[in-house]
Amino acid sequence: MGLKGSEVEQFPDFVKPLERGMVFNFACHKGLSCFTECCRLLELPLTSYDILRLRRATGLSSNQFLERYVIIEQEQDEAFPRLYLTMIDDGNGSCAFVASHGCTVYEHRPGACRAYPVGRAKRLQPETIDECFVLVKEDHCRGFTEPAPQTATQYCIDQGMTEYNMFNDALATLLQHEKVRCGFIPSQAQKELILLTLFHLDRWRAMLAQGEHEAISSETALAMGQRTDEELLLFAIKWLEERLFG
Ligand code: SF4
Ligand code: SF4
Repeated sequence: MGLKGSEVEQFPDFVKPLERGMVFNFACHKGLSCFTECCRLLELPLTSYDILRLRRATGLSSNQFLERYVIIEQEQDEAFPRLYLTMIDDGNGSCAFVASHGCTVYEHRPGACRAYPVGRAKRLQPETIDECFVLVKEDHCRGFTEPAPQTATQYCIDQGMTEYNMFNDALATLLQHEKVRCGFIPSQAQKELILLTLFHLDRWRAMLAQGEHEAISSETALAMGQRTDEELLLFAIKWLEERLFG
């Protein structure tokens, strides 16, 4: 999808629209003078799937992970919470997972880290899905000096974004639901349900396995209590959509 002129004007100078198939040079690797410099002073948003993967990397429970590594913001006038990875107080505002040799959770790093310097936006329309890409071209990033031709699509595939995009697109059915666009604000009980089902998969699984959820048939609850985190997250998204907007 091409960006409309008015949309292009919204981007700062270092963010360039990337038409489908447009080629740019980029490679990130050890040895570059900027290596790991971009893992500091970040406002790094986390999705439900990012949390699922980072919990897998750290082996922590959802409670432990969220308490140790995540800032949760819930604005009064927003339907869903915003989650960010905490930066540590080491004088550089570093990501908790960065080391001199690189990212210590590389296999499970968040989608935003994988996709950088490519940004992908997807907007659900009644009949279609709009997808567009941008290139974030910051001066400190030496990756653009590398002779490595890329397209946005291929770069995202190479960085393992396919699975992340699938889960994030599923989540977009909630975040961009028509009722949300029309100002829907969940009750306090619904907000707690959103946090539980999207970000505390282990707690929710335990509740389901013990038949502790009155709004789900015991048969379904017991079955879902045995499923993988990925299956449980997709179930949660569908179930929340019905529960909040049905
Ligand atoms: S090349 Fe860019 S993405 Fe890679 S470490 Fe340097 S600043 Fe970060
Ligand atoms: S998770 Fe890894 S790639 Fe992302 S900011 Fe932290 S150290 Fe860097």
